Amino acid sequence: MEEIFCQGCGAKIQTTDPEEAGYTPASSLEREEVLCKRCFRLKHYNEIQDVSITDDDFLKMVSSIRETEGLVVHLIDIFDVEGSLLKSLPRLVGNNPIILVGNKVDLLPKSANKRRLSQWLRRQAKEAGLRVKDVYLISSTKGHGLDSLAEGLEHYRGGEDIYIVGATNVGKSTFINRLIRQTSGLDDVITTSYFPGTTLGFIEIPLDDESALIDTPGIVNKQQMAHYVSAGDLKLITPNKEVKPRVYQLNEQQTLFFGGLARLDFIKGERESFVCYFSNRLPIHRTKLENADELYANHLGELLAPPDEETMERLPALKQHTFRITEEKMDIVFPGLGWVSITGKDLSVAAYIPEGSAVSIRKSWV
Ligand code: GDP
Repeated sequence: MEEIFCQGCGAKIQTTDPEEAGYTPASSLEREEVLCKRCFRLKHYNEIQDVSITDDDFLKMVSSIRETEGLVVHLIDIFDVEGSLLKSLPRLVGNNPIILVGNKVDLLPKSANKRRLSQWLRRQAKEAGLRVKDVYLISSTKGHGLDSLAEGLEHYRGGEDIYIVGATNVGKSTFINRLIRQTSGLDDVITTSYFPGTTLGFIEIPLDDESALIDTPGIVNKQQMAHYVSAGDLKLITPNKEVKPRVYQLNEQQTLFFGGLARLDFIKGERESFVCYFSNRLPIHRTKLENADELYANHLGELLAPPDEETMERLPALKQHTFRITEEKMDIVFPGLGWVSITGKDLSVAAYIPEGSAVSIRKSWV
């Protein structure tokens, strides 16, 4: 195929993968003005759509921010911080100021301490080498926190462009669409002032005569559960409303299964409470540790579901990670699924997750 470039964003046009940058259906190659699907939707439906790109392309594209001046808004999913915080960001954006925005706060239980979450996010960012000017918590679907974020953006950008950067699935499109509507009050602002982006694959939405809001493509996090599970299972494991903490008082030698996608063994310690923060629709099953292997071998996909049949075909085997809990209140985090807060100290647990994902432990902020 002769190389064609999208007249909107400049991405190389391809007709094979609808999820990747530059996709357009073969039928629209006949048109005079060839646009990728993302630009087509933006132009005709005023709608931002996320496209994902590979790590290398992402690095190339986003590192072009280093050569410009602007405010970088890093959007993350507070339900999957470990999976959505981009540790490579400082290298990519140079000296430009960064604002960290935790999206999906509507999923947190009412009891969760948002101030501690903000502090914890700031610390996480710092540990990852990200010096952030400020941290905001928002819900793009419900609109929480958007007014104060919009004010913050005006303040910190000092008349410069705003770059929105984030992994796929953090809610970047939902956020931008909402922000545009909220700040402009005009639904057709994107179409009327739409002009070809100057940087490959970036979409620019003018904020005023001199500056723009720039949407960068989302980077795919290969560790995300979303890569192993079927669309049906993804729906089940992704929280869609306020998460209700489920509390288990466990003795040592007891096991919790989270569907059949993850498992936590309480190996040794005094009786403690294990508080589970997962999608309300993900069943949790308690059993004795001595029966756990057999239960998993015989009832995966039935009693222990999800996985459904489609997921079972590609689900990697569970891999064990052991942890010692030495401080009061730690969380064992299953990326893309949720976490378990453990109150006591001096106990040992084993956490299992499909191979390729990494379980982590953190000081609890809940
Ligand atoms: P993108 O890939 O980063 O552009 O993410 P999308 O905007 O497509 O959102 C990914 C998923 O997260 C969708 O199912 C959204 O409905 C959902 N989502 C986005 N923002 C929020 C939010 O603030 N709260 C909740 N609960 N879900 C959200």
